[in-house]
Amino acid sequence: MKAQLVALPGDGIGPEVAAAGVAVLNAVANQFGHDFEINEHPMGGAAIDATGDPLPATTLSACREADAVLLGAVGGPAWADRPLGQRPENGLLRLRSALGLYANLRPVSVYAALRDASPLRPERIEGVDILVVRELTGGIYFGDKREGTDEAEDVCRYTRTEIERIVRLAAELARSRRGHLTSVDKANVLATSRLWRATVDAVAGSLEDVTLEHLLVDATAMHLINAPARFDVIVTENLFGDILTDEAATIAGSLGLLPSASLGDARHEHGLRGLYEPIHGSAPDIAGQGIANPVGTIASVAMLLRHSLALETEAAAVEAALERALAAGARTADIAGDRPALSTSDMADAILSALAG
Ligand code: NAD
Repeated sequence: MKAQLVALPGDGIGPEVAAAGVAVLNAVANQFGHDFEINEHPMGGAAIDATGDPLPATTLSACREADAVLLGAVGGPAWADRPLGQRPENGLLRLRSALGLYANLRPVSVYAALRDASPLRPERIEGVDILVVRELTGGIYFGDKREGTDEAEDVCRYTRTEIERIVRLAAELARSRRGHLTSVDKANVLATSRLWRATVDAVAGSLEDVTLEHLLVDATAMHLINAPARFDVIVTENLFGDILTDEAATIAGSLGLLPSASLGDARHEHGLRGLYEPIHGSAPDIAGQGIANPVGTIASVAMLLRHSLALETEAAAVEAALERALAAGARTADIAGDRPALSTSDMADAILSALAG
């Protein structure tokens, strides 16, 4: 397969983990006989320093033309005092919006070799395999805002169309997994949640192969810790999704382990156009030391192969390589405990060897 990919290394540990992701893409291309053209472009703080804009026009047009985009991370203290609209993170919001990416997929599972890295007891995390589908373009983050010294307001707005499209995608994903869909809202107090619930019922309430349940966000937060294995696909709005995905991430043991995909309806000849990135940020506290965990980025590469290039065998091979490398004892500092820790590039090499073997 011929595919055009864009890598946006970004800031902090972004370039360190993105290099590992690009190395895995190149290895997959060699091993499976594909032709991946991967072009790097500046994004975030690095792009502000180079051009004054966190999302330069050349970066945006390259992303628009690509089959998929792999991002490291953006942001850091050097740009933290800038006004909101001129910060590195704003480049990411603009990119998601320009590419029409409305669904953020975050799978959460626990690698067999890392059960002891989870803060939850082993019997609680047995069988945990959750896919959180978070709505990315609506809700309180994007409603009108008014900020005074004594009073402030953030408007939460959702339209039926916004809810329908994310629920359709989540139901489709549930069908391809274990067929269980949990819709999370706060319908006992919020009008947007009542519209959410009615729309979810209309879209997914009578699907034969999907079992639907509604759960309040506060109960969900509790069940995620008490009984995480009860969940298959969780679909929820922007703010609840932001909070619940970080909570779910702690189950896995380190922020550095988890991948994400942001998808919309736009398709190209192979699959959905998407943006793939680890869930962590630019980690300024460890940037430049070569110790960041590249697993979340490499797992994001597996999602890219699956969702944007429809290369399921290759995606599964990358995931199996991650399992094997971890089972063989490869660890970066964040998950090493008492074991010796590998550098980012040595960890990536261990995963590349597992892929080749
Ligand atoms: P962070 O995710 O960067 O770091 C939180 C903690 O997790 C730190 O102690 C860090 O060292 C550790 N960590 C994160 N990724 C790791 C990895 N791969 N390996 C080992 N340890 C890892 O969150 P933060 O410190 O709150 O944010 C730092 C910057 O990143 C901020 O500017 C923030 O806005 C930005 N950010 C960007 C994104 C993104 O690019 N999508 C996401 C979240 C935060």
